[in-house]
Amino acid sequence: MSDNVRLRFAPSPTGGLHLGGVRTALFSYLFAKHHHGAFVLRIEDTDRNRFVEGAEEYITNSLVWCGIVPDESPEKGGDYGPYRQSERKANYRQYAEQLVENGYAYYAFDTKEDLEKMRADFKSDTNPSPQYDKTTRMSMNNSLTLSAEETTKLLDTNTPHVIRIKVPENESIRFNDMIRGDIANDSNLLDDKVLLKADNMPTYHLAVVIDDYLMKISHVFRGEEWLPSAPIHVLLWKYLGWEDIAPQWAHLPLILKPDGKGKLSKRDGERLGFPVFPLSWDGHEGYKERGFLADAFVNMLAALGWNDGTENEMFSLAELIEKFDSTRINKAGAKFNYEKALWYNAEYVKQKEAAELLPAVQLELKKAGLAKSDEEVLPVLKMVQERITLLPDAVKEMHYFFQQPTDVDEQSIQGKWSDAHATFYAALLDHWGSIDWNKESLETTFKEIAKAQEMKIGAVMLPFRVMLVGGKFGPGVFDIAQFLGFEEVKARVSKYL
Ligand code: GLU
Repeated sequence: MSDNVRLRFAPSPTGGLHLGGVRTALFSYLFAKHHHGAFVLRIEDTDRNRFVEGAEEYITNSLVWCGIVPDESPEKGGDYGPYRQSERKANYRQYAEQLVENGYAYYAFDTKEDLEKMRADFKSDTNPSPQYDKTTRMSMNNSLTLSAEETTKLLDTNTPHVIRIKVPENESIRFNDMIRGDIANDSNLLDDKVLLKADNMPTYHLAVVIDDYLMKISHVFRGEEWLPSAPIHVLLWKYLGWEDIAPQWAHLPLILKPDGKGKLSKRDGERLGFPVFPLSWDGHEGYKERGFLADAFVNMLAALGWNDGTENEMFSLAELIEKFDSTRINKAGAKFNYEKALWYNAEYVKQKEAAELLPAVQLELKKAGLAKSDEEVLPVLKMVQERITLLPDAVKEMHYFFQQPTDVDEQSIQGKWSDAHATFYAALLDHWGSIDWNKESLETTFKEIAKAQEMKIGAVMLPFRVMLVGGKFGPGVFDIAQFLGFEEVKARVSKYL
């Protein structure tokens, strides 16, 4: 494949972009970049009723966070702009009229009442929800039933109208899906979809075909929910005379609920306590705010329904581009697994250089009121890095290095406490006042004193940790003690003597 590979991500700004949408963008981007092609962001905003203020900006910001950077977009421009369909309004009508002229579409002047009447008149046991189609169209008020003069007159007097596609009868509409192979649809089951609305705005079906054509889109990756629309698009590509250059479609399998059946929804996230948006949206916490790293999030998404054929699960964005092979996209839906998302994040946190992680960790510490210099934070981060799953965990894992723990698990200290303990720690502090302060000597002397006093190591080690840290967690206790220094260790232990 060549430089002519061009994919678009074409979201409608009707709300926040959820996991599934980001994955569609990612797969489109990976395929485009793998083939040295272009990745285009096109905003499909022709449905003004569903337009949501701020959604486009949200989509752009989400892609930026993920590193899925479009080559052409409303912001960036490009040779095929504008990249917002509302700004391309002037393009569409001529194509719809061309379809009418060639007998593939027609003007329809039906009012809301006409449509309601049709639905009532044609309703039967065998046809519970009648559509505007081969059965009904000839009973309606359109350019197929009106004379040419009547139609012209209605158009000339600006009578509100739409343009509908005239779906053929008894045809098998076929196309080859990159993931699902040969797909055939019975034309008799399709309705005469509106192509151009009364406000002169195209519907999704018309706009998507015209723009994929004008923007020279070679491949379309989109969610499985668009599969029922595909035969209409196939017809339009054919009726407009562009059949030979129609894009190759790939309908991506759904991302499924972790439990039960069906598509993952916003409600599943709320119910099970995980984000479904990359960034916060409309009061819902996003992956970023939850403390995920963008590259871990992207890797997790890529693995939802794709693999490279090996056991390897860890891929940077550059590796994903290199390895992305659309034939390895699963046909079956991918069950979302939040535990796996957490696993990815922990792995990325672990594998990164502490210095690379530092800015994100500093943000978390600042939010928790712990402003420390990079020089102070970096060595601590190195000690606790592998204990962090989500970025806010850094606060729990690091705060006690910089301040006395406030929330101390005193049960664990008092439960085991005896006079012998007090004697042991007093002797320990006494001795530690004059030794070389490094973790090796701390450990050696700790053990020697315990032995001399006939104390079990475990019995004095655990309370010691809790006094320093606040709980039964953290890296090696002598690493912690070394970092804190004698005075601080003494202060924290003395509190309990
Ligand atoms: N605007 C459609 C959406 O919101 C695009 C579907 C397609 O990619 O054709 O997903």
